[in-house]
Amino acid sequence: SKTLRLILGDQLNSNHSWFKTIDDSVTYVLMEIRTETDYASHHIQKVVGFFAAMQSFASELEANNHNVIYIYINDEFNLQSFDKNIENLILKLNFTHFEYQLPDEYRLDVILKNLCQSISISTALVDSEHFFTTRYELGNFFEGKKTFLLESFYRALRKKHGVLMEGDKPLTGQWNYDSDNRKKLPKNHKPTAPLVFNNNVAKIVHEIQKTTINTIGSIVVNNFVWPINRNQSLQLLEFFVTECLHLFGSYQDAMAPNEWSLYHSRISFSMNVKMISPQEVIDRAIQEWQNRPDEIEFNQLEGFVRQIIGWREYMRGVYWNKMPEYASMNFFNHQEKLPDWFWTGKTKMNCMKDAINQSLNYAYAHHIQRLMITGNFALLAGIHPDEIDAWYLGIYIDAIEWVEITNTRGMSQFADGGIVGTKPYVSSASYIDKMSHYCGSCFYNKALKTGDKSCPFNSLYWNFYDKNENKLAKNPRIGMMYNVWRKMKPESKVELIEQANYYLKNINEL
Ligand code: FAD
Ligand code: SF4
Repeated sequence: SKTLRLILGDQLNSNHSWFKTIDDSVTYVLMEIRTETDYASHHIQKVVGFFAAMQSFASELEANNHNVIYIYINDEFNLQSFDKNIENLILKLNFTHFEYQLPDEYRLDVILKNLCQSISISTALVDSEHFFTTRYELGNFFEGKKTFLLESFYRALRKKHGVLMEGDKPLTGQWNYDSDNRKKLPKNHKPTAPLVFNNNVAKIVHEIQKTTINTIGSIVVNNFVWPINRNQSLQLLEFFVTECLHLFGSYQDAMAPNEWSLYHSRISFSMNVKMISPQEVIDRAIQEWQNRPDEIEFNQLEGFVRQIIGWREYMRGVYWNKMPEYASMNFFNHQEKLPDWFWTGKTKMNCMKDAINQSLNYAYAHHIQRLMITGNFALLAGIHPDEIDAWYLGIYIDAIEWVEITNTRGMSQFADGGIVGTKPYVSSASYIDKMSHYCGSCFYNKALKTGDKSCPFNSLYWNFYDKNENKLAKNPRIGMMYNVWRKMKPESKVELIEQANYYLKNINEL
């Protein structure tokens, strides 16, 4: 018998049990194909990052004496889709059995299921051996509930996996340290410079340039900053735990001009393509905290562990529980297009300019920039969630639909009507100013609500609440805002709405 095993671009898990034995009757296949490069306009660094990591993974397998077929984007026999390439290989090389790992993306799940039905050889599906939870674990946990509360899922997983537990109780007695975290960076505080890699990806970029693949953003070909193999991913993790973890929680929500990564781990790409597992990331962070208890406070560690065993697993569970309906939810019925400057960074809004430009330069923005700057603006401006999804799915190196769409449509846009979040994440300039150093040097004035120089976030904020009163006023977490709104002088309200409408009409000029 001859087995063909498919490895998707986000399944680069060298610890997978598939690779424990060397079997000459098994051949692995990895492929660079147009269906994957073209389902969104991806950042050039995202396409390059995937190809580079896949190529390096294939070389590693070969070096370990596994049989590997690697299909490059410009190979003559490349039929540019999973099903066509696999059917072709089965035919040409007489495979008698086909296997693949559980895909994380709904689209690929359907394609591969259909493929298995259409081919005549036997097939098998195995787990990807990466996550703490199974696809439907969250769905079962919240069965019958309308809102899925992260906190309860997170606590259950901490218990189930014995992470930072003392018997049945959380270590230190407290589950949540959010109130100790989330500080603004002190003035003149210079964050640790990020560890970047100097990978040379000229060859891959050259191959991509020969195609008609449409990409966004920029790249420095001999200085590609992202990890492209397991070794570099482990180095990045090492750098994070030794240099950044001690301030992770404190400055998790902080923002500052030209500081693109602060104390964040930037481990999402490595984890999402499975070069490194969430278990080992958490274990290494916990170990560092144990080694340096005087330097790393527990709240810093807990803030980090919560993102991975909490939010990351949670989003995956929401995805598998709610797809495919999730992809078309639009609670506010928003219909607008994204302004042009989302692709150029050419806006006078300092916070938006910084978040967009760094996204174009690094294919990365940290969480609070994605949520409270670009996401906040898009929600206040009434942009269609499809437009917003396409932008987030394209621009970030870590963007794979299961974790992108749940964050974008769910957490950031409240387009799911409150499955992920209990209220929309919107804010005026005051929150942005509280958490960042953007407003001081902005063309707009954070303190003004109306007038030429008024910060657009201010009028758009009230306009958003006004427009959506019937959908939001009953929400107990928002009622207070409506009390403030109702008490405002009628003429002030009119001025605010007029200002917002003016900005929305001239959105490309902001
Ligand atoms: P850190 O701040 O160092 O956090 C550590 C890890 O925790 C991350 O690597 C990530 O794996 C996990 N994590 C943290 N927050 C979340 C979250 N909300 N959901 C899931 N995992 C989380 N994350 C992606 O991986 N891919 C995406 O496409 C993506 N799109 C997003 C879109 C929007 C609108 C928002 C608000 C968030 C999005 N996130 C996405 C979540 C989060 O912003 C990124 O995981 C994080 O910024 C990655 O950088 P980091 O590794 O430095 O994270
Ligand atoms: Fe952003 Fe408004 Fe502050 Fe300018 S004033 S940085 S637009 S919040």
